[in-house]
Amino acid sequence: MAFGDLLAKLGDWTGKVRGRLQSNFDIAPYTWFRVGGPAQLFFNPADEADLAFFLSHLPAEVPVTVIGLGSNMLVRDGGVEGVVIRLSGKGFSEVTVADDLTVTVGSAMPDMRFATQMAKQGIAGFAFYKGIPGAIGGALRMNAGAHGAETKDRLIGARAVDRQGKIHDLTPEALGHAYRFCAAPNDFIFTKAIYRGERGDPDALKAEMNEVSAYREENQPTKERTGGSTFKNPDGMSAWKLVDEAGLRGFKVGGAQVSEKHTNFLINTGDATAEDIERLGETVRGKVRAQTGIELHWEIKRIGHFPDGVDVPPFLDV
Ligand SMILES: Cc1cc2nc3c(=O)[nH]c(=O)nc-3n(C[C@H](O)[C@H](O)[C@H](O)COP(=O)(O)OP(=O)(O)OC[C@H]3O[C@@H](n4cnc5c(N)ncnc54)[C@H](O)[C@@H]3O)c2cc1C
Repeated sequence: MAFGDLLAKLGDWTGKVRGRLQSNFDIAPYTWFRVGGPAQLFFNPADEADLAFFLSHLPAEVPVTVIGLGSNMLVRDGGVEGVVIRLSGKGFSEVTVADDLTVTVGSAMPDMRFATQMAKQGIAGFAFYKGIPGAIGGALRMNAGAHGAETKDRLIGARAVDRQGKIHDLTPEALGHAYRFCAAPNDFIFTKAIYRGERGDPDALKAEMNEVSAYREENQPTKERTGGSTFKNPDGMSAWKLVDEAGLRGFKVGGAQVSEKHTNFLINTGDATAEDIERLGETVRGKVRAQTGIELHWEIKRIGHFPDGVDVPPFLDV
């Protein structure tokens, strides 16, 4: 399927944009699941000023969606209308460290690379990022966390551009992070995070990161086409346990499967559509609710449209 040419409709001002604009762009390869339809217009801003310029000129009625490394995201098969923005590594990955260990990092910096850089410099507090395959912008939006640590723990601020192109410096209070939740308005695109680290020993930090990686290899399907944890853990419970107890380990819908290794991970076994994956997720929710009365909530962000004639209602029967 293809969308109408939005770029042609936008007018001359797009000639002043320094980043890359591409129409009907296939974004599946930019997500871990590797499924889904195109973005109507895909934009890689060159830097924060370019992003702000673009958003300030883009007509208000055009929808905007931001993606990071697509590691917690399902793009529906009908594609994403409007503009999909992915920050370029070149313009949004700078890391600076001040004497008091205030660390400022661009939102396109991959979490794992950030963890490694911090460890090499002997700055502690970020080893948990070694296990999270997203970028800093996604970590800010999801309050990504693992191994007893969360993004919010060391965060002292962040910077974002809103839908009108206005730049905001945000305090932790304004970010309002909680478990896999951020209270910043949905249209805010994070461009930087500011953390406070502490002194640590590079060898000890390296060892800590190795432990994180080894744990991941052992317990998660890290080599598969997956979207990370599918459902948030309900209070005091583990989503994987509820899925397992519902007898769904290895359960399949089309080319999508509940991971045999970790039952809160769904997998594209090779030829899954986004519909297969979403149908599988809703079937899991349906079975868990029927069995326990508990409603699982998606942690994975689903973006875009179903193709014409397709719908995946919530809480399906097996
Ligand atoms: C194998 C595997 C293991 C994982 N383990 C963990 C784990 O242990 N802990 C954990 O928390 N997560 C885990 N995840 C999920 C995922 O890596 C995190 O949620 C990560 O923070 C998502 O970052 P991303 O760049 O991939 O964002 P995406 O998946 O691309 O997007 C996720 C959300 O963030 C938003 N977003 C992305 N960039 C920006 C930005 N610059 N500004 C504003 N919003 C933005 C998107 O709009 C979307 O709503 C795992 C995923 C996989 C595949």
